[in-house]
Amino acid sequence: MLAIRNVTVADGTGTVTTLLIENGTIVANGKDAAIPAEAGVIAGEGLYVLPGFIDAHTHMGGSSAFDHPPAGSRHETYGYIEAREGFLNWGVTAVRSCGDRSEDMLAFRADVRAGKERSPRLVCCGPFFQAENGHPWATVYMKSELLLKDAAIFVDQRVPVERRVAAVAGMGVDFIKVFYAHLNKMDYPNPVSRLTKEQLKRVVDSAHRSGLKCAVHVDGPAEMMDAAEAGADFIEHMIGAGGTDTEFTDEMVQKVKDSGAVVDPTMISILRFDNTPGFPSVWEALKKAVKQFYDAGIPLAVGCDSGIPFVPFGESLHDEMACLNEAGIPAADILKMVSRTNARVLGLEDQLGSLEVGKKADIVLLGSDPVKDIHNTRDIRLVLLDGHVAVDRMG
Ligand SMILES: [Zn+2]
Repeated sequence: MLAIRNVTVADGTGTVTTLLIENGTIVANGKDAAIPAEAGVIAGEGLYVLPGFIDAHTHMGGSSAFDHPPAGSRHETYGYIEAREGFLNWGVTAVRSCGDRSEDMLAFRADVRAGKERSPRLVCCGPFFQAENGHPWATVYMKSELLLKDAAIFVDQRVPVERRVAAVAGMGVDFIKVFYAHLNKMDYPNPVSRLTKEQLKRVVDSAHRSGLKCAVHVDGPAEMMDAAEAGADFIEHMIGAGGTDTEFTDEMVQKVKDSGAVVDPTMISILRFDNTPGFPSVWEALKKAVKQFYDAGIPLAVGCDSGIPFVPFGESLHDEMACLNEAGIPAADILKMVSRTNARVLGLEDQLGSLEVGKKADIVLLGSDPVKDIHNTRDIRLVLLDGHVAVDRMG
């Protein structure tokens, strides 16, 4: 048994508690919790406790630099070591992989779940659906054969998409991912092929028939409307870097709200490319849109698109939280989004996302109060993953 004694809950209420942890689970949480004599004790006095951070949008095998093999295999990318160590070092104890080489990810996920790998918890989508000659296969992946073999599936006339989605579901993936995107990220401002709205709807419907939720990548407001109408469960991104479609009317915001979709703005992935050659700035429009969605009560996830160039694993989640704060969302709410909302996005809300008794002991201790200043999420002193110390900077 492990005890974290007299620690302040990082929710702005000032509550001090003692947490007891056994077999990877929180078994007590309260200021009067009695610490058994045999328990190992962590002195939490002066520290702040919160659930392990969750990144709702990553690419574990993605290229973190253009000189890495794009969508390289698990072994080519060093067993994902950069990803998993980056995450754990920054307190990220669960992630959602939104497109990687499927064979590798599913093998890696099996190893993680069997406790054979030191890694954050992981859910993944398997091969993603996209338009032939569309993003990302024909753009950032420059028509890579490797990607087509194992990570991308074209929605085309050759095989009914229903059959293809059912086959992916049969691989045991956690959700379905589809790209509904027009921006050509390698050749601005010329657009690339995109799925039709009807094709998009068929992918989403097929996912639902297979009992899976569907995440839809969009590049802007018009595409988001189509995704909401198609029944997307998760909408990835809001306004693409360099996009010219940037305005959400009140009616559009209401439509997304009524759809029930969770929106994942991935602000940091836009900021890193914003206002660079070929990418006119969308930053002010994006901040405005995020605030509109927040004010409307639309559930927002905290995802980074980590793994793409300039968006490193782990640290970017803290940048993303700072971006959301800059858009006008209070720190206390961002901390709920990165735990509770993200746990729901991963489909793990029964196990993760809070410090309630019965939840998995994925826990972060901070040296300073993140509700006072969101940048304090970076002041990480201890990370527990499944009740075990993954990072110790208690000094
Ligand atoms: Zn992505």
